[in-house]
Amino acid sequence: MACSTNSEKRVKFVVVGGGIAGVTCAEQLASQFTSDSVVLLTAAPLVKTVTNYKRVAKILEDFDVEEQPSSVLEGKYPNLKVIKSAVKTLQAEKHTLHTENDRSFHYEKLCLCSGAKPKLLNRNNPHVLGIRDTDSAQFQKRLSTARRIVVVGNGGIALELVYEVEGCEVIWAVKDEAIGNTFFDAGASQFLIPSLALDKPEKAMPCKRARYTTEPVADGAAAGMSEATVETGSALGPDWHEGISLRGAEKGSHNVTVEYQCGIKQICTQQEILQSPPGGSQSSDAGTWPVYVQLTNGKTYGCDFIVSATGVVPNTQPFLHGNNFELGTDGGLLVDDHMHTTVLDVFAAGDVCSAGWEPSPLWQQMRLWTQARQMGWYAGRCIAAEVLEEPIELDFCFELFTHITKFFNYKVVLLGKFNAQGLGQDHELLLRCTKGHEYIKVVLSNGRMMGAVLIGETELEETFENLILNQMDLSAYGEHLLDPNIDIEDYFD
Ligand code: FAD
Repeated sequence: MACSTNSEKRVKFVVVGGGIAGVTCAEQLASQFTSDSVVLLTAAPLVKTVTNYKRVAKILEDFDVEEQPSSVLEGKYPNLKVIKSAVKTLQAEKHTLHTENDRSFHYEKLCLCSGAKPKLLNRNNPHVLGIRDTDSAQFQKRLSTARRIVVVGNGGIALELVYEVEGCEVIWAVKDEAIGNTFFDAGASQFLIPSLALDKPEKAMPCKRARYTTEPVADGAAAGMSEATVETGSALGPDWHEGISLRGAEKGSHNVTVEYQCGIKQICTQQEILQSPPGGSQSSDAGTWPVYVQLTNGKTYGCDFIVSATGVVPNTQPFLHGNNFELGTDGGLLVDDHMHTTVLDVFAAGDVCSAGWEPSPLWQQMRLWTQARQMGWYAGRCIAAEVLEEPIELDFCFELFTHITKFFNYKVVLLGKFNAQGLGQDHELLLRCTKGHEYIKVVLSNGRMMGAVLIGETELEETFENLILNQMDLSAYGEHLLDPNIDIEDYFD
């Protein structure tokens, strides 16, 4: 077990981060090495645990995430200690970590799972908010009196936020020609758009856990739209928006205007807009809004506030100084196929890492909940294998990208190269779409299924996962593959 010298605690395994990657890794280690101590160091007061885990198909999995006090985790694993203290520095040569409250830990093996931080428009502007995982009160309060907000960003977070906000006009600035570009193509986007004009269905159940807030940008650059980040707790879960009221000052449900292929050119104050109105002429609402946004497409909108939901950057900062970490092109800690970073005895998993191995033709890294769990679990196994000097092969879950989620109240399943990523011209698409009901897209290359998007209750996920994994030649079936009169599940059973 652990012992201490000169206020430095010596521990066999240290995991940094109480998000899903860190917790899964720590659990894996604690259950495998019951007589060794595992310390989980985390900046946030609560840890995230996986609940209601369901294997939907061979790789596709679904689960809920609950925030729990660390005592729950410690109760399950007597050799696991959770310490709430953010890591300030890492001296990898000495195998030592120092925390904000002046504690030091000496590790044999370390796994960094510090997640990612939301990118923010770098503005010292109280009217620009970014999403953070702390408390929902501030955002809800601001929204409750708002008549119009501008949302910038086109990933999953923006997609959900725009759908969830009611009773307030939303101007949604997306840089692409379709909404939800991270997940969808133009066809799927068209399928989803009508939902923004409909009333949201009543929620069947209140949510038990999600917290959501936004925070004014603290970092104050005067001009330019470069990005800054804020300090972080855990990233939110798939249902982060549930159970909280995202209602503005007006009556009614959705009122969304999408501005495609544009970003923010400038943010102006009331005074600035009055002094130099866009296009030289004063518009009727000039000077009536707290803040104005000039978009790169030439339009100007007054609004109550702006939400920046423009993606995340790996949270590597505390670990880089003085250590030889190689970083991926996206800024994450580069890891090999054993989740090992380029620094001795330091592993990484989840949003903080960049997968540096040659990926399977059907897999890509995306900073999502499922991959945080898979990587945390696999990192724990890799650390164990290294300690026990046992061989270990890249886990099967990295053979195929799978993700299950909900957008606009539709079940969404993404498999493999669902957007034909990296396939160039060398692919064809099969589509089946029933308005308001389902959208199915299959990506084929040389007659083999490489990916699929399933929106709605299609019940095709297991069959399609199989067809993608076994790379069966489907040329003979042609378009019949999606013929609604053929029970494809039965056919390929
Ligand atoms: P995190 O969950 O971010 O955990 C990082 C942990 O590290 C935290 O406990 C933090 O306190 C700790 N930490 C950070 N710095 C330090 C330090 N210096 N010292 C000690 N501890 C530290 N994914 C989906 O799959 N579906 C979705 O619908 C979805 N929606 C999202 C909505 C929002 C608003 C956001 C922000 C993210 C969403 N994601 C979604 C992404 C998903 O939440 C992340 O991919 C996932 O949580 C990453 O897990 P992680 O364990 O790597 O990191």
